[in-house]
Amino acid sequence: MPRFAIVALSAALLAHAVPSAAQAPIDTTWKRGGVCYEVFVRSFFDSDGDGIGDFNGLTQKLDYINDGSPASTRSLGAKCIWLMPVAASPSYHGYDTKNYYRVNPEYGTAVDFKRMVAEAHRRGIKVLVDLVLNHASTEHPFFKEAARDTLSPHRNWFRWSATKPDIKGPWGQEVWHKSPYRDEYYYGIFWSGMPDLNYDNPAVRAEANKVGKYWLKEMGVDGFRLDAVPYLVEEGTTLAGTAGTHSVLHDFAESVRATAPGAYTVGEVWDSIDIILPYYPDQLDGYFAFALSDALMDAVRTGSASKLLAPYLRMQQAMPAVRWSPFQRNHDQTRTVTALGGDIAKARLSAQLLLTLPGLPFVYYGEELGMTGDKPDERLRTPMHWTRSKAAGFTTAAPWEPLQPDSLTANVAAQANDKASMLNLYRKLIHLRSSNAALAAGELVPVDASNDAVTAFLRRDGANVVLVVANLGTTPLSGVTVSSNQGAVPIGRFATRDLLGGAAGAELDASADGTLREYVPIATLAPLQAYVLELKAIRR
Ligand code: CA
Repeated sequence: MPRFAIVALSAALLAHAVPSAAQAPIDTTWKRGGVCYEVFVRSFFDSDGDGIGDFNGLTQKLDYINDGSPASTRSLGAKCIWLMPVAASPSYHGYDTKNYYRVNPEYGTAVDFKRMVAEAHRRGIKVLVDLVLNHASTEHPFFKEAARDTLSPHRNWFRWSATKPDIKGPWGQEVWHKSPYRDEYYYGIFWSGMPDLNYDNPAVRAEANKVGKYWLKEMGVDGFRLDAVPYLVEEGTTLAGTAGTHSVLHDFAESVRATAPGAYTVGEVWDSIDIILPYYPDQLDGYFAFALSDALMDAVRTGSASKLLAPYLRMQQAMPAVRWSPFQRNHDQTRTVTALGGDIAKARLSAQLLLTLPGLPFVYYGEELGMTGDKPDERLRTPMHWTRSKAAGFTTAAPWEPLQPDSLTANVAAQANDKASMLNLYRKLIHLRSSNAALAAGELVPVDASNDAVTAFLRRDGANVVLVVANLGTTPLSGVTVSSNQGAVPIGRFATRDLLGGAAGAELDASADGTLREYVPIATLAPLQAYVLELKAIRR
């Protein structure tokens, strides 16, 4: 069906349902100032006492993520959740799919899943599911069939070789694996349990689009996080970022847009900005900005602000901010607090910066509590800490994976009513980001600070301006000045108010030409503290 026909049809349906509406409302407003929350269902909340988190458990905890009241600061206020894989899989993490059309029975039923999606929508939470298209599981029936029988109709869905090709993966790993069924080899870039799908085969490309449609239409999700997208198509010895890979992504994204206008796709390209940029503008909607994550964590860890803003400015120049996603850490990386040497003050500062800089940020569950965790991977994905009680209120049984040792302090019950807690800092920052126009959508304008330990930047949306100044060092700094290019702020005089609730900053006189000239916003910058100063014009 041509695109215009679909648009005309949905407009007609909508006109019938809501007579006053002039056109189909495609709700993409959540991205403006929105924050996404990454959830590992297995570790979030166990509703049925088997030690494994599940869909009904997540449903019970949705109010924690967003209770649907914009003014409420009793919930985090995230506008979307990304669920790590929920499809059937033989592995605890789910990144090797056994059936793309079934939910993992350990997490519940399709009905449970759909109820969870409906309850999320009722609260204004979009639901993104992890979609693992690069590879399947060796337990997938098509792989088993193709491996056993060279005449199988699914034989060409995977890549086979009679002899072992002399090719290693990007980390020096084996990528051709001995078949357990026949004297031959199959290709799988990550692991022998994850045979790559063969996207040179048009049937595989069509199947990927069909899987996408199924989750959008049947399961009601709002989009996808796409795993490991650089590796979709191999060309000779080039295993990543090939023209074929870009073509598959383009087709998949087109199919998603045609199926569900307003759906959102974000891809994992774990690489530098140079490598990520060719995945824009006509493929997925967004990509995780690993370079920004590294810059943020390095700046806070080392106490040097000098390399923080450049990669942000580069992404801003290349693409609208809703199309790239900064974060602190994800499920594959040492958790934030652990990566920062257990320093909670640094983790707070890191959150303050992440959530006041531009982009569409993602927060990994438990980060808002200061949860710790280091490799191996299972220890990065441990059960959420809800209460001080046994198993931290995650389950009434033995949890599938032991808790972190900090569960007595880094838990929701201990922090929910403590105004100074990490949890309430996140709640405040996430709500500020969606309610303040400058923080939601303002341009990032860099400001020079007179000390290397200090980062300063403006977020400016027309007349709405916020100045963020942060001391990344561990000692107080007095008399630090900040200076901008001409016209960085509107012409005028401004009072400054700390949106995080601290004391007001100094008055700013930019009445000549909208320039900050050796302005001292805060007389003494406390160590490891950000100031989020809203500029309010003073009228005479
Ligand atoms: Ca369970």
